[in-house]
Amino acid sequence: METLMVGLKRKPFHGRQLHAWIHRHGATSFDEMTDLAKDLRVELADRWTIGLPKIVEQVTGEGQDSATKFLFELADGERVEAVYIPADDRVTVCLSSQVGCAFGCTFCATGLLGLKRNMTSAEIVGTFLAIRAWAPKRISNVVFMGMGEPLANLKEVMASFDVLTDPDGIGLSHRKVTLSTVGLPAKIRELADYPYPPKLVFSIASPRDEQRKRVLPVAGRFSLSEMHDALSDYAEKTKHWITIALLVADGLNDSLEDARMLHKWIGNLPAKVNLLRYNEAAGNFRRADEEAMERFAAELARLGRTVVLRRSRGRDISAACGQLAARSLNIEGVKK
Ligand code: SF4
Repeated sequence: METLMVGLKRKPFHGRQLHAWIHRHGATSFDEMTDLAKDLRVELADRWTIGLPKIVEQVTGEGQDSATKFLFELADGERVEAVYIPADDRVTVCLSSQVGCAFGCTFCATGLLGLKRNMTSAEIVGTFLAIRAWAPKRISNVVFMGMGEPLANLKEVMASFDVLTDPDGIGLSHRKVTLSTVGLPAKIRELADYPYPPKLVFSIASPRDEQRKRVLPVAGRFSLSEMHDALSDYAEKTKHWITIALLVADGLNDSLEDARMLHKWIGNLPAKVNLLRYNEAAGNFRRADEEAMERFAAELARLGRTVVLRRSRGRDISAACGQLAARSLNIEGVKK
């Protein structure tokens, strides 16, 4: 924005003012920027527009501290989702990074949409700002766990990361932004070279290569051994622990043998395990039962792993990624 102002033959600090108005104060028109000269505001408004993506649907779950899911329409009419998730100690916003997704993971509603296009960093930040403008509580965390594979749109995702974490703008802590991936080894190594690499969640799907290939037809082409090497490099370079997320489905990956194989695969990777219960909204898998989840978690704990059983949140608001967008397009296989 400094460069933009210099291009207009103005002082660079006007760029910093513009940045603060948009990202810190959430201004959605140049008229609000009262410390910019009137003629500059008119010049800016003649050349550019600022604004937030349109919220076309908003659903809040039942009960106190429920998640709220948003369906946004972007300037070209494409639709993406984001979710506001309040908890006792944090408020997280889950953001999308692509319109649809090319990876076609069989448990995922977004996979059914196919990839339409990448989101720009401005669109990603716009969805955050639109939720912040509505949010009853201060947002402390961001996860890229919505529609799309963030590592497949790394440049724009990391440009949005810079804006989200700029202390003169939105000001989130670097340590409070997390990327979730189904696994692209080369991109994981590329991410490690950024000045502030985010925390990483690796969605493993299964500790068995063959099964993983069936569940993740695209990402499963990279073997678990390749993934282990890339994640070990990432952990070593960034000094971050990796979170291994396993979406557990009945009869697919919920046995004690699966738990032991997962433990063996993790080996000496500095990692903790998040177990999530399959949401039963897309694909052909069945929701794992509570007891199987607990047995699985207990076995990992017995083997010395740090394991968290994630509470299933947002089942009543179609919170798994892509469900709202798929529903709005009447995509087959997604429950109404
Ligand atoms: Fe894409 Fe992620 Fe869904 Fe897989 S799980 S299809 S990578 S959005």
